[in-house]
Amino acid sequence: MPNETTSSPSNLPPAPHASKADCLFCKIRDGQIPATVVHRDDRVLAFKDIGPKAPLHQLVIPLDHIETLAEADPAHEALLGHLMLTAAKLARDAGLSDKGFRVVMNSGVGAGQTVFHLHLHVLAGRSFGWPPG
Ligand code: 5GP
Ligand code: ZN
Repeated sequence: MPNETTSSPSNLPPAPHASKADCLFCKIRDGQIPATVVHRDDRVLAFKDIGPKAPLHQLVIPLDHIETLAEADPAHEALLGHLMLTAAKLARDAGLSDKGFRVVMNSGVGAGQTVFHLHLHVLAGRSFGWPPG
């Protein structure tokens, strides 16, 4: 057939991201809600937190919707590592890694999670107490 097109991995459109309707961070990922984006690649997105708790407060999310760390599974191992390395890069890029920075992931209501799309907080630019509140 002369007009037949073939699909191969190189010309297939990218797979859509796992999404949840009414998820705030899925909407930020899709540009439906504005955010100040500081990093995006094929697996993660990072943007400034709307209510910063430190001079640098950025969030790193997987592009795919995963609700909590408790629901992550072994298939997410590399993605979770990439989230952590991205957090370190953000602190380095801001010139704030040498004095120390904090990476936090709240999992579940009891830990303070309010947005149920898994995310890392990257906080830097001040000193931090321990234990966290
Ligand atoms: P969690 O409490 O789930 O660990 O963190 C959620 C974070 O999302 C909070 O630090 C909060 O300030 C941030 N946040 C909530 N709504 C928005 C928003 O619309 N835009 C941005 N950039 N951050 C948000
Ligand atoms: Zn989501």
